[in-house]
Amino acid sequence: MTKIAVAKGDGIGPEIMDAVLNIFNAAHVPIEYQFVDMGKWVFDKGYSNGMTPEAQQAIESLGILFKGPMETPKGKGVKSVNVTARKTWNTYANKRVFQTLHGVDTVFSKAGIPIDITIVRENIEDTYGGVEHMLTHDVALSRRFITRPGSEQVIRYAFEMAKKKSTKRITCGHKANIMKITDGLFLDVFYEVAKEYPELKADDVIVDDLCMKLVTRPDLFDVVVLTNLQGDIVSDLCAGLVGGLGFAPSANIGDHICIFEAVHGTAPDIAGKNIANPTALLLSGIGMLRHLGLMQIAAIIENALLYTLEQGIHTGDFGDKAITALNTTEYAAAIIGNF
Ligand code: NAD
Repeated sequence: MTKIAVAKGDGIGPEIMDAVLNIFNAAHVPIEYQFVDMGKWVFDKGYSNGMTPEAQQAIESLGILFKGPMETPKGKGVKSVNVTARKTWNTYANKRVFQTLHGVDTVFSKAGIPIDITIVRENIEDTYGGVEHMLTHDVALSRRFITRPGSEQVIRYAFEMAKKKSTKRITCGHKANIMKITDGLFLDVFYEVAKEYPELKADDVIVDDLCMKLVTRPDLFDVVVLTNLQGDIVSDLCAGLVGGLGFAPSANIGDHICIFEAVHGTAPDIAGKNIANPTALLLSGIGMLRHLGLMQIAAIIENALLYTLEQGIHTGDFGDKAITALNTTEYAAAIIGNF
């Protein structure tokens, strides 16, 4: 049986992970879980990278990490465990799929405009290196790294994925009109790789214009590849198009290790109340099952989720306020009831 590492995370992490694993168990998903220690509470125990050596070793030998959101402790000199994990294991591509879900009403679903956008965000470079310092008392300086190999591996991943999905259009979002050298390099590499995929329509849009177009005609976009910071911002925008962060799954793809998690964070404002929406983590888990080749069971769980949403069943963060919202546990039970 396939074995994966699971880290429940902080805040709402344990609540939504328990809900998702209950759904997986009810569906008899043939996966064994090794629970590993990662997150803020591990920082607090004195592990500066937010994970125990045993956790790191397990993840490296198993190759798959299914994780809940994790909090970055506040204060200078502490690095985000999420960023550290992505860098340590070179998960260079962050894939985020945003699709219209029947039963999750949005401005676009009400107007009959379907959305199916995949954002591929470069996951390691850019300003996320945290290379910044005070130049003088009044001047803060940050360095931005964009490399040819780093750009090429994420752009190539995006083209390969677009080809497999039979996507027609792949777009590069950038700000090369202003950041001519850094974003200019990313854009150059995009068009170099594009020559190898003549069957795909490759084009580019300046990122501010991209944001405007995404909120007016999201149906015109298929796959969009961006640098790290711009990709982070644009993907939260896309989450808003399909109903919010509760519906935004993600996969961090590397050659040896892949991490599946929701886009959202630990939601400290609602942690411990059993009211969080586990859908984003469930969608991430369904993506993980497909990655592991468990297509049939992934489809069974996905169909149960979609049918549940279509029935108007929901947690309190979205949906018709006239219909009583379920808590996290009840919502998971409703999905299980629809297998
Ligand atoms: P957040 O995503 O945790 O919360 C933003 C808002 O969305 C809050 O109002 C929250 O209640 C709501 N929300 C988020 N997920 C929800 C869910 N599943 N169901 C219902 N409502 C939900 O963002 P934040 O407040 O900026 O960040 C909180 C912490 O999470 C920070 O420490 C941040 O560093 C961390 N974070 C972690 C990850 C990760 O682990 N990948 C990602 C983003 C933020």
